[in-house]
Amino acid sequence: MSTATSPAGPGLQIETRLFIGGEFVDAAQGGRIVVTNPHDNSTLAEVAEATAPDIDRAVAAARQAFPAWKKTAAADRGRLLLKLADAIEADAGYLEQLEALDTGHPIRDVRNLDVPRTAAAFRYFGGIADKVEGRIIPVDAGFLNYVKREPIGVVGAIVPWNFPLLFCSWKMGPALAAGNTMVMKPAEITPLSALRMAALAARVGFPPGVVNILPGYGHVAGQYLAEHRGVGKIAFTGSTAVGRKIVQASAGNLKRVQLELGGKGANIVFDDAPIEAAVNGSAFAIFHNQGQACIAGSRLLLHEAIADQFLDRFLALARSITVGNPLDPATEMGPLTSAGHRDRVLSYVEVAKEQGGRILIGGTPPSDPALREGCYVEPTVVEARSADRVCQEEVFGPFVTVTRFKDEAEALEIANSTIYGLGGGLWTKSLTRAHRFADEMHTGMVWINSYKRVHPGSPFGGVGESGYGREMGFDAMHEYTDSKSVWINVDATIPPFYKR
Ligand code: NAD
Repeated sequence: MSTATSPAGPGLQIETRLFIGGEFVDAAQGGRIVVTNPHDNSTLAEVAEATAPDIDRAVAAARQAFPAWKKTAAADRGRLLLKLADAIEADAGYLEQLEALDTGHPIRDVRNLDVPRTAAAFRYFGGIADKVEGRIIPVDAGFLNYVKREPIGVVGAIVPWNFPLLFCSWKMGPALAAGNTMVMKPAEITPLSALRMAALAARVGFPPGVVNILPGYGHVAGQYLAEHRGVGKIAFTGSTAVGRKIVQASAGNLKRVQLELGGKGANIVFDDAPIEAAVNGSAFAIFHNQGQACIAGSRLLLHEAIADQFLDRFLALARSITVGNPLDPATEMGPLTSAGHRDRVLSYVEVAKEQGGRILIGGTPPSDPALREGCYVEPTVVEARSADRVCQEEVFGPFVTVTRFKDEAEALEIANSTIYGLGGGLWTKSLTRAHRFADEMHTGMVWINSYKRVHPGSPFGGVGESGYGREMGFDAMHEYTDSKSVWINVDATIPPFYKR
């Protein structure tokens, strides 16, 4: 354990060890990862760094725990997930502080979105655990054929830094409900809430080895886990570039892979849109969580007839967003989660300018001296052409491009012009247009007169280079199980193959 030393922090006790086989342990090779507070770049904690021997131990513990966990009644697995949801709610005060300190998410968002959504996901999968039914197939006379769903085995889960707490639940919920055991590697930048989750899982009674949580570097611990022959599936959320490495690493034992990758969401505003709602929803689409969301509406496409009036209001709203210390309940936008990432986001301002993009607002750190040490970037709006790099590459910050279009056909062409296909949306009063776009957008999710809605019951995932597989909803239970087809000869009169 260590105590948060950040001047912004409330002096929290923070777990810093690896969680393997039901216990918190030190790393085999003694390495440490420095975790910083993005508000001021002070050190929050130093956590143990998992390397190959730790991953081996965790996979062994998960394999040992698997047979009994698979045989545990599904309702009992579900009951533990429901208890974990309750434990998260009981721990909300601590989790809010920890997540805000570690990620820079404004505490009001962590309180209103991250923590309740995490509990809701565990509750959903707790409820669904015993509702995964099999099928009976009407095969040839004399045979009974039934199909059951079986857990895969050990799931390796690798998650990014943008929603560390929430993504624990999106992976742990379905994997554990389905009867798998797990080894999870949180992002090295934001491992703290996952370690808290380990403590809560132990507290509510998950058997040792069912959940193992090990912070470590991606190219070391992540790569080793993805290659591990003792792992049956890798559930990965992160960038498209690393997603490709995961696929290659998985080839050794042909493990199953689920990929939730990057996005470049088109948010299309038509001339018949409800403008006030569209302005508000479009700002949420990009500025919530400082734009660090795979489903961010990072490309704003505006019909030329309303573009100017929309932009007036949108820019006024963006300018009014309160940027500040995440622990201040009035803060609407915090810092980016790391200094390296802030620099990457700011580098796209130059990329935009080089290609003739117009910076309408932002593009710099805030001028407030109180924020000077932190990873802050002002809300940034850039007018650019669809083919420009800033309209094609994922910036992953409070950085939205604006491109004008003249008709539906052009809007659709622009919307579908990137390698990504995660989410996208449109604002219109036309029901027929809404359905046309829902059909034609090359994405896994479409929002109409809204943006970035998620729910544990609704499948989440992308197409194209945004990956494959679906989190959440019943779909997730199929992602974390294999089907097994069982044939029984129920008719003694069936003639033998070889008549003698
Ligand atoms: P990242 O790909 O750099 O890292 C994600 C995770 O992979 C981290 O835990 C990292 O340590 C690990 N990793 C890195 N290299 C690895 C390797 N060689 N082998 C195994 N693991 C490795 O992504 P990031 O910067 O942490 O997160 C941002 C990205 O995640 C964005 O592209 C964003 O769109 C994407 N994302 C996607 C979704 C989704 O559901 N589609 C959700 C959130 C974020």
